[in-house]
Amino acid sequence: VKAESAARPVRKSAKLADVCYDIRGPVLTRARQMEDEGHKIIKLNIGNLAAFGFDSPEEIQMDMIRNLPNSAGYSDSKGIFAARKAVMHYTQQKHIKGVDIEDIYIGNGVSELIVMAMNALLNAGDEVLVPAPDYPLWTAAVSLSGGKPVHYLCDESKGWLPDIADMRAKINRNTRAIVVINPNNPTGALYPDELLQEIVQLAREHDLILYADEVYDKVLYDGVTHTSLASLSEDVLTIVFNGLSKNYRSCGYRAGWMVVCGDKRHAQDYIEGLNMLASMRLCANVPGQYAIQTALGGYQSIDDLVAEGGRMRRQRDLAWELISAIPGVSCVKPKATLYMFPRLDPEVYPIEDDQAFIAELLEEERVLLVQGTGFNWPHPDHFRLVFLPHEDDLRDAIGRIARFLEHYRKR
Ligand code: PLP
Repeated sequence: VKAESAARPVRKSAKLADVCYDIRGPVLTRARQMEDEGHKIIKLNIGNLAAFGFDSPEEIQMDMIRNLPNSAGYSDSKGIFAARKAVMHYTQQKHIKGVDIEDIYIGNGVSELIVMAMNALLNAGDEVLVPAPDYPLWTAAVSLSGGKPVHYLCDESKGWLPDIADMRAKINRNTRAIVVINPNNPTGALYPDELLQEIVQLAREHDLILYADEVYDKVLYDGVTHTSLASLSEDVLTIVFNGLSKNYRSCGYRAGWMVVCGDKRHAQDYIEGLNMLASMRLCANVPGQYAIQTALGGYQSIDDLVAEGGRMRRQRDLAWELISAIPGVSCVKPKATLYMFPRLDPEVYPIEDDQAFIAELLEEERVLLVQGTGFNWPHPDHFRLVFLPHEDDLRDAIGRIARFLEHYRKR
């Protein structure tokens, strides 16, 4: 046995040096500690629907239970036939042309497939355009895969729409792909077709791959509709991501999919890479795969939640009104998703370190948010708020945020 001092320190790999995922970062660890000490924390930090009483549809649960005896073995690496067939029909409903069963991969949530898609593509020096703010797994997955994330700005003054000029300016010979998160986490923006067309055109001009994260495509308010990026071209290689987590309140079932769309003739080598990575992890969680066909084919109960008077819509309206009424706070009203990304006027709130700011809020008011820089936003002047708690809890939580900010102004 070696002396303690002689033991070689076990360090994380150098691959992780630039990888950051703050949604489950140090402030959450502190919140857990406070809960263990007996404090009640109001959590506005994670889009985990079932934890707030947004139950997954009962028919999905029943089908999973019924299929459990058939789920003990590995499935095909790309997924069970019934799930992939249902996803194929879904792509048809979304007006995406030319999708075949073999173009569809079922994964342990979209998360696994994002990492897989980046791992299969990137070499050192390759750049991927990722939005700022983003859902930070995208930036992390690019870094982990040895690529370089380059952030294009979404413009708050234009309802958080991507700034196409900025996107264009950041394309160079190393750029391989553009990531588009629509509907957007963390801003709640939904992109108009004309803007999506411009992105497709950019990809076409510069021979880039499009990665379209559309996991919130049914969480839409005020009668807006969602267009899948892959439906706008048949020539540009576009990989679409979607799953059950959000639309079907089933985050824990870990059921997501990825569809390779557009012209695949020149991408056979990449597709081989995807197939290899899918095989290496054997298959996705099989009970979760059995939920997919039922979910996509059944009654779309999400529609009731987002319709006027529905619980999600009411909570969106209430949270937005209360947040916008706080002096020095402004917020683009979300058209979709479970999130809003309010701005703290730096003249009123001169914050230097937004993680410390969020940690202070937690200590003082027992409300948990995620700081804007956790979404790769370049300035410490935003935070993300999840409006999943019931209206009473939202009132309580935003009241506490308002009180904290009032003290902050008077400092
Ligand atoms: N993409 C976006 C934009 C998300 O917000 C999330 C989860 O919050 C995911 C992907 C991951 O989803 P999944 O549960 O399917 O892994």
